[in-house]
Amino acid sequence: MMTKPHSSSAPWDYDVLIVGGSLVGLTLAAWLGQSGMRVLVIESQRGMAGTAARVYALMPLTQRVWETLGVWPRLAAQVQTYNRIDLSDRGRHNIIFTPADLGGKQELGYVAEHRQIWPILRDFVREIPSVTYWEGQQLLDFVIDPTAVTVNIQINDQCNDKYKSPSHSQRNDAIIRLSVGLIVGADGAKSQVRQQAGIKTWGWSYWQSCVTTVIQAGFPPIAYERFWPAGPLALLPLPEQRWGIVWTLPHAQANDCMALPAEDFLARLKPYLPFQEVHIEPQRWSFPVAWRQARRYVQTRLALVGDAAHGCHPVGGQGLNWGIRDAATLGEILVSVYQRGGDVGAFNVLKKYERWRWPQNLLTLLFTDSLNRVFSQGWEPLVSLRALLLKTMQRWGALRRLSLHFMAGLWGKLPDNL
Ligand SMILES: Cc1cc2nc3c(=O)[nH]c(=O)nc-3n(C[C@H](O)[C@H](O)[C@H](O)COP(=O)(O)OP(=O)(O)OC[C@H]3O[C@@H](n4cnc5c(N)ncnc54)[C@H](O)[C@@H]3O)c2cc1C
Repeated sequence: MMTKPHSSSAPWDYDVLIVGGSLVGLTLAAWLGQSGMRVLVIESQRGMAGTAARVYALMPLTQRVWETLGVWPRLAAQVQTYNRIDLSDRGRHNIIFTPADLGGKQELGYVAEHRQIWPILRDFVREIPSVTYWEGQQLLDFVIDPTAVTVNIQINDQCNDKYKSPSHSQRNDAIIRLSVGLIVGADGAKSQVRQQAGIKTWGWSYWQSCVTTVIQAGFPPIAYERFWPAGPLALLPLPEQRWGIVWTLPHAQANDCMALPAEDFLARLKPYLPFQEVHIEPQRWSFPVAWRQARRYVQTRLALVGDAAHGCHPVGGQGLNWGIRDAATLGEILVSVYQRGGDVGAFNVLKKYERWRWPQNLLTLLFTDSLNRVFSQGWEPLVSLRALLLKTMQRWGALRRLSLHFMAGLWGKLPDNL
């Protein structure tokens, strides 16, 4: 085994190790790297991190984070802006949100495909001199002591120098041992960092899965959230008149849908769509959904961000957006400590991040859970109550504006730079 990819006066090989190079991990790496902090990102997948098939609704806040980092101009060409949200219950009682509900100064939101935006963010991060990105490398284990984290990383021999994999001079067998000031778990729902740190989660699995696909339809770019008794259906407008579909259904119905040929699936989907002139793309995916909140987000020299820390129902498109907000918040706290010559792994530093983000995420998790439970019901008194609520929201601008600010992530304490 061997160490020291960098020579430096700091006591560690890297100031921060980020485990997981998907969108949340890369956003944090960019934030830290731009301050000169020495950051190593390791990603176990090769070629593409995260879930290539995913289509995201992106909140204005996420756009602001990427704008602040300077990567937004590169992403913008791959992103569809929308300025109308149409929310309905069983195809009726629509509420329409417009930019006026956000004060008229910004777009309502954006939609992008993971497979389009991830490579742009990855290349952007690799251009930052103090950031190193290794792909196809697996975290093995780590030991935290008061002054450093010692990390063992499994090195895959087929690693490719183009992606700045460790050079032969840094290795002497299949494992590399490094010392870092802080380890960050950005490694998703099953986070190995969280599990090895012994951090437990609260949560449950839903009775539903999400079936996702892409359709083509020549209609204006409106983001639809259509609630049906089986579960919500989101239609997210993509560039070139394509639409991401996220259809929540009880597991058995979702499995049935997955077994159907594309045209039969489309016939089943059509009654729930707002328009009928559509073509369907052949690929379809199904994801089980779960609710999860880590009991703690930090320990001495360890922090969790994104799905490693929390996971919510996809209704309202919140999960990634909240992970990006975690990254911006942790980034701001760490950069300010680093610039003052402080210890980025100190417990009191990390605790500030937890106190800031843990309650905000909990509120969002509870909100998405309630939305799904209240609207995925056919019980008549509840249906009438929902109709009343939606009518009131449509007529009473203040309530509509409040709910939109909440869904757009524009509430609560934000990082100063945003
Ligand atoms: C159907 C569906 C629709 C959704 N739609 C939206 C939406 O519209 N808007 C929204 O904001 N959110 C949405 N979400 C949620 C969103 O997809 C997630 O919140 C987001 O992808 C989490 O990003 P992440 O970077 O934290 O984790 P991930 O994307 O899961 O990335 C974790 C990375 O860590 C790597 N990794 C794991 N273990 C290791 C290890 N030991 N060593 C090295 N690397 C490792 C993995 O390979 C992976 O690349 C949706 C979710 C679902 C299921």
